[in-house]
Amino acid sequence: MDENDEAIRTPIVSVLGHVDHGKTTLLDEIRGSAVAEAEAGAITQHIGSTVVPIDVIERICNPDEEFDLPGLLFIDTPGHHAFTTLRSRGGALSDIAVLVVDVNDGFQPQTVEAVKILDRTETPFVVAANKIDAVPGWKTQEDAPFAETFAEQSERVQNDVENALYEIIGDLHDNGFQADRYDRVNDYRSTIGVVPVSAETGEGIPDLLMVLVGLAQRFLTESLTTRPNGSGEGTVVEVKEKKGLGTTVDVLVYDGVVEVGDTVVVGGQLDPIVTEVRALLEPSEKVEINEEDEFNRVDRVVAAEGVKVAAPELDDAMAGAPFVVVGEDDELGDVTQRVRSEMDEIGVETAED
Ligand code: GDP
Repeated sequence: MDENDEAIRTPIVSVLGHVDHGKTTLLDEIRGSAVAEAEAGAITQHIGSTVVPIDVIERICNPDEEFDLPGLLFIDTPGHHAFTTLRSRGGALSDIAVLVVDVNDGFQPQTVEAVKILDRTETPFVVAANKIDAVPGWKTQEDAPFAETFAEQSERVQNDVENALYEIIGDLHDNGFQADRYDRVNDYRSTIGVVPVSAETGEGIPDLLMVLVGLAQRFLTESLTTRPNGSGEGTVVEVKEKKGLGTTVDVLVYDGVVEVGDTVVVGGQLDPIVTEVRALLEPSEKVEINEEDEFNRVDRVVAAEGVKVAAPELDDAMAGAPFVVVGEDDELGDVTQRVRSEMDEIGVETAED
């Protein structure tokens, strides 16, 4: 393989929506069902993100078609702030989004805000119409696909669900999007799919994963093309002090490869920081990572992946800043200039907020 070889990388998925509509629960449920389906260790917890491999997704949702994406990478922090902070080359870092709407509560101010952000950043999204289990009279079938569990409901409950979905579809329409229940969508390019789910009981989660993978596979493969041997590019997710390591940055690498010893340019509060990667750290096997020293050192990471980077001089690094490896053929001055102008753009946007 040389540096011009190309491969399809894991699409990056964000979860947005109004407070309390179930974003965190949904992420936990997806992680949980993936862990339940996976052979030990098959699901990978990255720094700030979780990758669900495609074979696990296929086992959960038994699709008719084969997918050639490696899986889905979910950013662990839901919400608008994370979404708008995490940028790549001036655009949204997320390739695709899940907009969570409580089916019993409908559109709320932050739902409208989220739709506007997704519209402005031209991010394809699906709607998870969440909490169907809380519709009065609902009979839960844990982890069942939507069609299966819907067929078990009384006519009254079915009607109540349909009416609630139509409200959401109407609100999407008022915000400029054509939408329909996902199994009635013919063309996902023009119509947003609304997937009824319960993050609490797992109902509809197989359908949601299937729609996400299908969307990414059909519409994003070009933008998901990465150079698995090219020089790495990523976005700083968080800047953190770590005992024994000094200031570290958590980076979501969205293109190429990052290796220990690489010279990198990182956006800083005043000037771009030029430094050298001392260590690349991934969480150790455990899915929960709260403790110190829970990291494994690795020599290299390939996009898309979240990794903690230890390097000198990172005190001024900023969340949302670019992280760019200076490749063999790159001029340090050019890379620094690029990082500087991307930081200027971020500064302008922050001032407008
Ligand atoms: P967030 O603020 O959007 O991250 O919302 P959370 O995930 O914290 O959920 C808010 C509340 O709704 C919590 O009490 C959850 O247990 C509850 N919740 C989330 N999803 C569901 C669901 O599918 N069904 C029910 N019945 N409750 C849910």
